[in-house]
Amino acid sequence: MPTVQEVRKLLEERGAVLLAHNYQRPEVQDAAHFVGDSLELSLKAAEVDAKIVVFAGVDFMAEQAAFLNPEKVVLHPEPLSRCPMAAMLTPEVVKEYKEKYPGAPLVVYVNSLAEVKAMADYVVTSANAVALVSQLDADTILFGPDRHLAEYVAERTGKSVVPLPELGHCPVHLAITPSDVERAKREHPAARVLAHPECVRAVRAMADFVGSTSQMVRAARELGAREYVVATEVGLLHRLAKLGVEAYPASPYAVCPDMKKITLESVARAVLEGREVVRVDPKIAEKARRAVERAFELLGVSAPWRRS
Ligand code: SF4
Repeated sequence: MPTVQEVRKLLEERGAVLLAHNYQRPEVQDAAHFVGDSLELSLKAAEVDAKIVVFAGVDFMAEQAAFLNPEKVVLHPEPLSRCPMAAMLTPEVVKEYKEKYPGAPLVVYVNSLAEVKAMADYVVTSANAVALVSQLDADTILFGPDRHLAEYVAERTGKSVVPLPELGHCPVHLAITPSDVERAKREHPAARVLAHPECVRAVRAMADFVGSTSQMVRAARELGAREYVVATEVGLLHRLAKLGVEAYPASPYAVCPDMKKITLESVARAVLEGREVVRVDPKIAEKARRAVERAFELLGVSAPWRRS
């Protein structure tokens, strides 16, 4: 297994940049040039000068970095690192719901595949889903694939948010239970609780703050507590520890096996062998990119891949 320093040296020799998601293994995060959530990393891919971007994250993230940055070579070190929640929303399910709810805008979470994004009106993240849906001129919104995030958006906006598919979920966040949070709070009574909106309602209700991974990082700095209990995938704890934040997992079993498939070895192999290059059908890429851009336009955010 190569060391963090060896991987970093190799990346630099080949003029490649490593972007790693907050849920990656600690050593992969340590070797990365940037660590963040999926949207931050796609934006970063547009900003960096390097022509080769190695994306340490699951399939939909690498795919999104590729379709937002078609002039760059995006390498996914482990093509079998696939998000099961993204796979729950297929184009067939989308067609079925569009027929059932004609005229209802389709908002899809970034955690979905490019084919589905290409069918959407807007692509959102857990950080901006509430803001975007509240601005839509419609009372009924189709939202997929996470039904817990859909429920959270409905609670916060007062709109009728129809989840598609009906039971779409992240298995990692679903497995974090209210009793996990209670136990963690008993063990760390001074801690404040940060939860991801993919958690079930009962867990969200116990949290002092609900938000995306990057919002949780910001909240941990701003809330000023001595310690935190974190209801999300355990990879975020490494990022928080590096920032000097004392944080504990709501559940030590909240581990995403797909995120952990990427290792220093697979990153080094990807750079040395130049694979797997992420390719998205140009027609799908164009439509998916437009759905991301429409969300940016509505939210008044400029898209870095269009600045040049
Ligand atoms: S943590 Fe959940 S949503 Fe994220 S990649 Fe793993 S299964 Fe998918």
